[in-house]
Amino acid sequence: MADLQLDNVTKVFTEDDGNEIVAVDEVSLDIDDGEFLVLVGPSGCGKSTTLRMVAGLETVSAGQIRLGSSVINDARPKERDIAMVFQSYALYPHMTVRENMSFGLEESTSMPDEKIAVTVEEAAEMLGIDDLLDRKPDDLSGGQQQRVALGRAIVRDPEVFLLDEPLSNLDAKLRAQMRTELQRIQEEIGVATIYVTHDQTEAMTMADKIAILNDGQLQQVGTPLECYHEPNNLFVAGFIGEPSMNFFDVTRQGDRLVHDAFEYELSAETAGEVGDQRDLVLGVRPEDIEVGSERDGSHSYETRVDVVEPMGDENNVYLAFGPDSEPFVATIDGFQHVEGGQSVVARIPEDAIHVFDRSSGRALR
Ligand code: ATP
Repeated sequence: MADLQLDNVTKVFTEDDGNEIVAVDEVSLDIDDGEFLVLVGPSGCGKSTTLRMVAGLETVSAGQIRLGSSVINDARPKERDIAMVFQSYALYPHMTVRENMSFGLEESTSMPDEKIAVTVEEAAEMLGIDDLLDRKPDDLSGGQQQRVALGRAIVRDPEVFLLDEPLSNLDAKLRAQMRTELQRIQEEIGVATIYVTHDQTEAMTMADKIAILNDGQLQQVGTPLECYHEPNNLFVAGFIGEPSMNFFDVTRQGDRLVHDAFEYELSAETAGEVGDQRDLVLGVRPEDIEVGSERDGSHSYETRVDVVEPMGDENNVYLAFGPDSEPFVATIDGFQHVEGGQSVVARIPEDAIHVFDRSSGRALR
């Protein structure tokens, strides 16, 4: 068992016209043995390229990839002891489940046939597909096919497990079920895992640690809760959390944050944390905004309900300070009754606010 380390790993693609695309820009990551790291970010941010470099399917332009104490930059994929599961399951349609799972072992190891048979059956049992071993992929549901693809990777007993959007072809219900299952399996096999997704819910629910990429650059690495409560910058703050954090452009005037439609008074302590930058962004998570009828202190504001989006146990309420101001969203309890057009008071507690430097996006608080 070994740790996987990426040290300033960069990938530059050169297009036919000579144009260079920096797909991955000096990314450093450390994935401990047994750790489940979720690499998350919007489409085109470099997730798959990062994973493909680790798997050896793409060359590394600069930096080092280490597995344990060895640098594996130039090792061929087969020499890496790394198993990868793709979004498309890539099963062989003419082979049974058993053959699909044993094929790689027969090709790449000198494991005796009896041992291969036992390994495949054990993996199939762990995945709950032991009764499907003699079927062909076409006779399986999407979820079952995904399990076979996982099984094929597990039987290789790899040092590192790479999963590239493995659940994206499944329907919402099955996806939720497979999330839990994948976590269980990963814990059981206990290897360093990188799981790529653009779905922040998947990242939040599955990860020991999240790495957030944007434009090829690593924005933050931390536990899901760290990234949620203490985002490093505007990008992470906006990417993690659903609905997204509300952002207001504000200007610092003394201890006040002044917005076109409201002013927010900072305590001396918060003002000290924020420093003396002038152009700032105030960030508030929808779930931190309290909606009521009475004004309560300086952090509560008269607003008008624009739209209510019922979510079942919660409602997303879109509020506006005035007819010309952009709506912002508050998430309130599903039992609390508000309706479009109603006047309500929104309170923004000071302990919940985030403040960012507007030009760099860096979190100040
Ligand atoms: P998605 O979630 O859409 O799969 P991603 O985060 O996995 O996206 P990558 O596939 O790693 O992103 O792509 C990162 C960047 O590199 C993109 O701008 C992409 O267009 C570019 N890119 C990827 N592969 C190549 C290639 N073979 N040649 C040129 N550019 C490439």
